[in-house]
Amino acid sequence: MKQGQFETIKEMLVRYTAQDGFYRKKFEGIDIYAVQSPADFEKLPFTYKEELRDAYPLGLQAVPDSEIVRIHSSSGTTGTPIIIPYTKKDVDNWAEIFKRCYETAGINNLDRVHITPGYGLWTAGIGFQTGAELLGAMVIPMGPGNTDKQIQMMIDLKSTVLCATSSYALLLAEEITKRGKKDKIHLKKGVIGSERWGEKMRRRIANELGVKLYDIYGLTEIYGPGIAMSCDYECGMHYWDDYVYFEIINPKTGEILPEGEIGELVITTLKKEGAPLIRYRTRDLTRFLPGDCPCGLDYPRIDTLTGRTDDMVKVKGVNIYPGQIEDILQEIDGASSEYQVMIDHLNGKDIMTLFFESEHESDKGKIEKNVKSYFKTRVGLTIVPKAVAIGELPRSEKKSTRIFDNRY
Ligand code: ZN
Repeated sequence: MKQGQFETIKEMLVRYTAQDGFYRKKFEGIDIYAVQSPADFEKLPFTYKEELRDAYPLGLQAVPDSEIVRIHSSSGTTGTPIIIPYTKKDVDNWAEIFKRCYETAGINNLDRVHITPGYGLWTAGIGFQTGAELLGAMVIPMGPGNTDKQIQMMIDLKSTVLCATSSYALLLAEEITKRGKKDKIHLKKGVIGSERWGEKMRRRIANELGVKLYDIYGLTEIYGPGIAMSCDYECGMHYWDDYVYFEIINPKTGEILPEGEIGELVITTLKKEGAPLIRYRTRDLTRFLPGDCPCGLDYPRIDTLTGRTDDMVKVKGVNIYPGQIEDILQEIDGASSEYQVMIDHLNGKDIMTLFFESEHESDKGKIEKNVKSYFKTRVGLTIVPKAVAIGELPRSEKKSTRIFDNRY
């Protein structure tokens, strides 16, 4: 933790416990003035998504009503949504860091930014827009859907930057190819939201659209997209440590992990006014990347997201994430990306069986051996690999249903 970050956090702790509100109640009984070092800070309790939900509708608001200019809300697919109030300064700061994201990707005021994420309560569309306007670029605020119109506008207005989720970018790429319009589009870059997406999908989008792709990260609880962004070197994402403080913890024990180890990202906001958050557990899995980036940017980096803590399983004391399995299968010749995992407990031992589809029936034994040894070296776990024919495993939309834990 930098000294400046710690000073900011100390001030926040005092300010938000001195007034009525979310953190006064949450930190009741804790002597805030005893927090005199980063180590003391690391003993403070985490803030959980459930608590934000319980604060519905405006329990997180930390300033008077007169200062709030906007709210955004998480999708709330599982019950009560989370409402995040923003002050004018929050809205301005968000645009400022979003502009920095575009600049990190080499996007400038001559670019034409085609925005397909949704507008409304969700933070996506408007974040992409305000950042691009602050940059001075031309915004084409499409929102999602209506593929015909998207492609027509893209051609007529000569859009140079596509902002989209990975699935929508792929759909557009396929439609453009299908219609034979590839030579009519002017796209150079794609800024893609931070859902986890495989290398094979990335290559398809990049090739079909003929663009360079960048990852952008963020979550509604902390501004929205725009708090981290990949650069030309595609080695993780730089995050803006003058606006957010990141920790990576073991999601099971809450302990802080050493640099390079995968764990849950925990975020403390350093400048938010409307709804500041202290040690917020994102449930996103990633790791800090050590060393300097060849691009020369001084901002630290996290890796591309590996998955969500909800998808994690523990086998023989080793944490396994779907992302790790995908990464390994992608590197092995003859193994496709479709897989299914069975975890059983037999004769007092955990056994993990990895079924994966393989294109080469005759080389089955060799491919299985490769998968087994890759897993052993990368993850430190001995598994039982089973290659099956293409199409044999059930196709599923949800990644989480690929891991079946039969132990309990
Ligand atoms: Zn860089």
